[in-house]
Amino acid sequence: MTNFDLIVIGSGPGGYVAAIRAGQLGMKVAIVEREALGGICLNWGCIPTKALLRSAEVLHLTKTAESYGVKVDKAGFDLPAVVKRSRGIAAQLSGGVKHLMKKNKITVVMGTARLEKGAAAPTVMVKDAKGKDTKYTAKHVLLATGARARAIPQAGLEPDGKLIWTYREALVPDVMPKRLLVIGSGAIGIEFASFYNELGSDVTVVEALDRILPAEDEEISAFARKDFEKQGLTIHTGAQVKGLKPGKTTVSAEITLGGKTETQTFDRVILAIGIVGNVEDLGLETLGVKVDRTHVVVDGFGRTGVKGLYAIGDLTGGPWLAHKASHEGVICVEAMGGKTEDAHPFDPWNVPGCTYSHPQVASVGLTEAKAKATGRKLKIGKFPFLGNGKAIALGAGDGLVKTIFDAETGELLGAHMIGAEVTELIQGYVIARQGELTESELMETIFPHPTLSEMMHESVLAAYGKVLHM
Ligand SMILES: Cc1cc2nc3c(=O)[nH]c(=O)nc-3n(C[C@H](O)[C@H](O)[C@H](O)COP(=O)(O)OP(=O)(O)OC[C@H]3O[C@@H](n4cnc5c(N)ncnc54)[C@H](O)[C@@H]3O)c2cc1C
Repeated sequence: MTNFDLIVIGSGPGGYVAAIRAGQLGMKVAIVEREALGGICLNWGCIPTKALLRSAEVLHLTKTAESYGVKVDKAGFDLPAVVKRSRGIAAQLSGGVKHLMKKNKITVVMGTARLEKGAAAPTVMVKDAKGKDTKYTAKHVLLATGARARAIPQAGLEPDGKLIWTYREALVPDVMPKRLLVIGSGAIGIEFASFYNELGSDVTVVEALDRILPAEDEEISAFARKDFEKQGLTIHTGAQVKGLKPGKTTVSAEITLGGKTETQTFDRVILAIGIVGNVEDLGLETLGVKVDRTHVVVDGFGRTGVKGLYAIGDLTGGPWLAHKASHEGVICVEAMGGKTEDAHPFDPWNVPGCTYSHPQVASVGLTEAKAKATGRKLKIGKFPFLGNGKAIALGAGDGLVKTIFDAETGELLGAHMIGAEVTELIQGYVIARQGELTESELMETIFPHPTLSEMMHESVLAAYGKVLHM
């Protein structure tokens, strides 16, 4: 069959979730994938990094076992086994997507898709591994081709796959680099810095902006920096890598810091300097699709403005997160064909952001600086992990929960957390924002004891001068 209601191009968390939802709505769906089902997220992003970080966490626990009264003869790790576990989990989840496609009667087409002008929607031409082209048609076509690591060849910041890595090589290290340079301190850079540091690399992070994790609240960034430096990371902010020269086994990096340039040598370099959308070779120019730099421009329902053509996920710009892609996929499919009355457009301010380093960082909504910039009067609450019984019992007394409210309306404008398990906790605040809860409902809510979640309560109480355990 080559004629469908919907053809989805790209099977990452945007594309495959959209395909499932469309199947549930009774559409005849095909999904085209050129590499592996599950996209970057399952194969080269969210999942394999979390598997590596889990190994690092287990190593950390074994290294610190004595403080829990537990004896471990010798803490250590086996790098190929750590990588094998991560790859195995990625493969398992990619297989899970294959199963979900089958269960939802979605036709999977392996090959590279390209668009041509069509009738109801653009025609999809798919080239398979043998180079054979097949033409597919549909009422709707959804682009979910994702993004890839940014390189800046003109500034010498280009991966070579051997010594200068992107996230792909960093996920399958052949050796444990003694000296590792991580360029960029967003979530991806910091997660790798945290992993390699725990496994014994001497890690240097270079960030062009004036703080690490620049999308996070400034106080959380500063907290994270202090913690990482205590763990041995070298962090340069307001610094730039002006060029990388790979040799036989090492790379020399020219780093400009405080007006001075110095050359340092590293065994490996990870480029984590951003993301560019996969907009090339799709035929977008022929169709007149609007592209802003490397991202397809869409409205709140994923509509591109070209008849029958939609786009979602990393391809449409930040935040470059799997749950943003999936959420957009569902919204887009539900509103397909103009059925927007029951659908809600995408709201970027309710997208939580998580960094799964040690310590973890999580947030939703406005940072303190951004909340101040709105001109509103604010109430800000903070609660440290040290005041929480469960955190102390876990041996995780380092962290902070910060909440920001509109002083006049009680609206939760933002929540920012650093410490153990905050990537799990943040969802409580996301629900509060989505449900438009105010401070009074949050204060009246009963939180189980002993849990880390009690800190979320205390932070809200602190904003209103009612904190209990400080
Ligand atoms: C190292 C790393 C860690 C990350 N960790 C997290 C995390 O913890 N949490 C989080 O939310 N996000 C994380 N992300 C981001 C997350 O992976 C992306 O936001 C998410 O994968 C985007 O989903 P998507 O569906 O838009 O695109 P993708 O997952 O990129 O999928 C796009 C798919 O389209 C396919 N494709 C592209 N062009 C074509 C074509 N012409 N024909 C056919 N197929 C095509 C690609 O092969 C790919 O499989 C991480 C990313 C990286 C790199």
